[in-house]
Amino acid sequence: MSRKINFYAGPSTLPLPVLEQIRDEMVDYQGMGLSLIETSHRSKEYDEVHNGAVALIKELLAVPDNYKILFLGGGATLQFSMIPLNFLGEGQSCDFTLTGSWAKKAFVDSKKHGTVNVLFDGAESNFTKIPDASSLNITPNAAYLHITSNETIQGTEWHNFPDAGDVPLIADMSSDIMSRPLPIGKFGMIYAGAQKNLGPAGVAIVILREDLLERCPDTLTAYLNYKTHADKNSLYNTPPVFSIYAVKLVLEWVKAQGGLSAMAERAQKKSSMLYDTMAQSNGYYSCPVDESGRSKMNVVFRLPSEDLEKKFIEEAKNEGMIGLKGHRSVGGCRASIYNAMPVEGVEKIAAFMRKFAEVNQ
Ligand SMILES: *Cc1c(COP(=O)(O)O)cnc(C)c1O
Repeated sequence: MSRKINFYAGPSTLPLPVLEQIRDEMVDYQGMGLSLIETSHRSKEYDEVHNGAVALIKELLAVPDNYKILFLGGGATLQFSMIPLNFLGEGQSCDFTLTGSWAKKAFVDSKKHGTVNVLFDGAESNFTKIPDASSLNITPNAAYLHITSNETIQGTEWHNFPDAGDVPLIADMSSDIMSRPLPIGKFGMIYAGAQKNLGPAGVAIVILREDLLERCPDTLTAYLNYKTHADKNSLYNTPPVFSIYAVKLVLEWVKAQGGLSAMAERAQKKSSMLYDTMAQSNGYYSCPVDESGRSKMNVVFRLPSEDLEKKFIEEAKNEGMIGLKGHRSVGGCRASIYNAMPVEGVEKIAAFMRKFAEVNQ
């Protein structure tokens, strides 16, 4: 078997031991004589998986007791709808920072339900910057302030988080959750689709401060109301059992690696390797992102021409390194180096970058 070095932005690479455990447990889960995805989501076996995953999220992120941890279908994208439906009340406004493609998508959905104040518009700098967390002019009584902690497409990441005071801070952390310890108490809500840093597609994790549940309107239909899921421990309906099972295994792997401080250290090491390679390339590789807001998860870069970018992506592929094409909306190259990307994988692409620049001057 020869596994590729997989730089896809999402769905993305998973830890090999996790894939192997899934393979080994798939046909006969712990002697049940059937698989976990063929049994009731009310079974004792699934219950252990479900609550085990909740407990690991709580432990790894040090989530305080006054937060609920939910598993919802619909990806991160459904949260773009659920947030305004639940929290943007009649006559209220909310605050947004437009840092890139994902923030804009969330913004468009919130805007359909009420007034949105734009505190920062990255369009002015072609989305190469993250605002200074302490300089945001937060609207008093805003229903929430929404940020996107890591812009998967533009390769920017918040390194510090705003203090929003009484305004609930809501963060889309789809592409950097579990990559570093977090000051959870600063947030009213954190959400993330699983398929970047947590597991396969199919589930979104929502971490929600309990007092916010009081704001969810009773007029909402069941699935769209956070209260429904909070009251039933995400078992109101059939949860995405396979995805939750895989997330639990990924979190066990994260814990075994040393938890979030170890993940943060690895992310620092891996991303520096790529940014340093660019800095030492005499301008052959350039990173469009301002140094203060560079992502440790999605490293974007350009070569001297689009033809060379094509050649780079093609030749890397021939050496087993895939997924290096930038998002179609921005072009260029992108290496997504989430938790599960081994340090050796990044060493290999960095060495390839140096060699390619030498040969293709
Ligand atoms: C991928 C991504 C999303 C969309 O996630 P889905 O699960 O496909 O809905 C939202 N936000 C960010 C930051 C992402 O990277």
